[in-house]
Amino acid sequence: MGRTPLTSADDPKPSTRTDVTLRSDVTVELVKSSASDSDVLFAARVSTLGEQSIEELQKDPERSKGLINYLMRDRHGSPFEHNSMTFLVSAPIFVFREFMRHRVGWSYNEESGRYRELQPVFYVPDTSRKLVQEGRPGKYVFVEGTPAQHATVRHVLGESYHQAYEAYQKLLAEGVAREVARAALPVGLYSSMYATCNARSLMHFLGLRTQHELAKVPSFPQREIEMVGEKMEAEWARLMPLTYSAFNANGRVAP
Ligand SMILES: Cc1cc2nc3c(=O)[nH]c(=O)nc-3n(C[C@H](O)[C@H](O)[C@H](O)COP(=O)(O)OP(=O)(O)OC[C@H]3O[C@@H](n4cnc5c(N)ncnc54)[C@H](O)[C@@H]3O)c2cc1C
Repeated sequence: MGRTPLTSADDPKPSTRTDVTLRSDVTVELVKSSASDSDVLFAARVSTLGEQSIEELQKDPERSKGLINYLMRDRHGSPFEHNSMTFLVSAPIFVFREFMRHRVGWSYNEESGRYRELQPVFYVPDTSRKLVQEGRPGKYVFVEGTPAQHATVRHVLGESYHQAYEAYQKLLAEGVAREVARAALPVGLYSSMYATCNARSLMHFLGLRTQHELAKVPSFPQREIEMVGEKMEAEWARLMPLTYSAFNANGRVAP
């Protein structure tokens, strides 16, 4: 886990090589939020009772819990949209390619490879990442890699990243624009983005991008995007505990 420079004891000539940092983690920071269970209750009750005060909503917690569960179970989704969470995510580009397929209820801004020089930070799986796929498409499992396979992955990816970043640097040194030079870089390069969503769009994302024993409809996401999803889920669970619990109780299907 964590970050290690490629230029280490197993590197024969560290001083002549550009430092390439290898990471195995993803980071997710909740930078801004306006999201609580009472946002759901306000929105739901306006349709039957008109405007409500927060005190009224808190008078009967069991009723509030029941209402949120009913909305989730019967898939009345719109009351779950009146809230907002902004995450700062740092992950490899291949994760962002998958992430940005989620079009509805998400806003994105990613760091630019046109306006700034990209930093040599790349992804390698750590030893907890299952490496080997067994079975046929649509019916396969991932199993542990051997220590030798892990070592090879780390070495081969590290070398390949190093060469790619040297090529990028060479093009920049020749005066080639960043937006052209970046074509030399692979999808294991780290990037960062702001991603803003609401509870409904996050639930849809989590239903597809996490594997969970409570899921009524199982999904088989790539582990690295699931790592991002798990961190977002932990932040959201803290902000909206009743909604989170109803999501799990109803099979992790977005309403
Ligand atoms: C395990 C897994 C494997 C995947 N493999 C591949 C793959 O091999 N190749 C690939 O290209 N993608 C793949 N995807 C991406 C997948 O096809 C979706 O693009 C992605 O999960 C986003 O889902 P979504 O469209 O439901 O989300 P959003 O874009 O956020 O849409 C949310 C919902 O809005 C509605 N909606 C949005 N846009 C439209 C529209 N144009 N028309 C009608 N309804 C709409 C749908 O109900 C949709 O579910 C994979 C996803 C997962 C989870």
